[in-house]
Amino acid sequence: MKCPVCKQPSLRQIELADRLPANQCSNCNGIWVSSNQYLAWVRLQEKSLPEKDMDEIAAPQLKTDALKLCPESGHIMKRFKVFPNVDFHLDRCGHCNGIWFDSAEWDTLVAHNMQDKVNQFFTAPWQERLRESESRAKMDEIYKDKLGADDYKRAQEIRAWLEDNPRRAMLIAFLQADDPYDV
Ligand SMILES: [Zn+2]
Ligand SMILES: [Zn+2]
Repeated sequence: MKCPVCKQPSLRQIELADRLPANQCSNCNGIWVSSNQYLAWVRLQEKSLPEKDMDEIAAPQLKTDALKLCPESGHIMKRFKVFPNVDFHLDRCGHCNGIWFDSAEWDTLVAHNMQDKVNQFFTAPWQERLRESESRAKMDEIYKDKLGADDYKRAQEIRAWLEDNPRRAMLIAFLQADDPYDV
């Protein structure tokens, strides 16, 4: 099998995890996992691992943006962003559903207990959650810039204080009134 990055027949069989066969490139260390073998391995896991906070993901800094061809079926693989605000992408073949991990990407997932959740990354809800999280982060930056970090922090505290306050409407009216004592 040809490595999609090195384009050489440099993939050799390995055991990526207990009872998870895969193919690793002896040159770039990228890893190819076929869909059926991955799904069979996920089913073997007794219980789902506790998910860690996505914000804590430390992504390996790799720049491999070139198109990759599936080593199994030869189709062009689709690139999926996996976590918000970090440059972490996986390539997946839409034809045979096999997955390509660039060097250290699998280890990063293992470090965050996410190695059994890879198939979720390619679903609409995951991708939607990712986009939402990225747009929140962008708005956060804009508010910080426009309001100033200190005032923004204060405004957030006030929002949190008002959120479930039973007198919320009256408090907001008080804050907004030109002169709350002149009724
Ligand atoms: Zn390679
Ligand atoms: Zn394929």
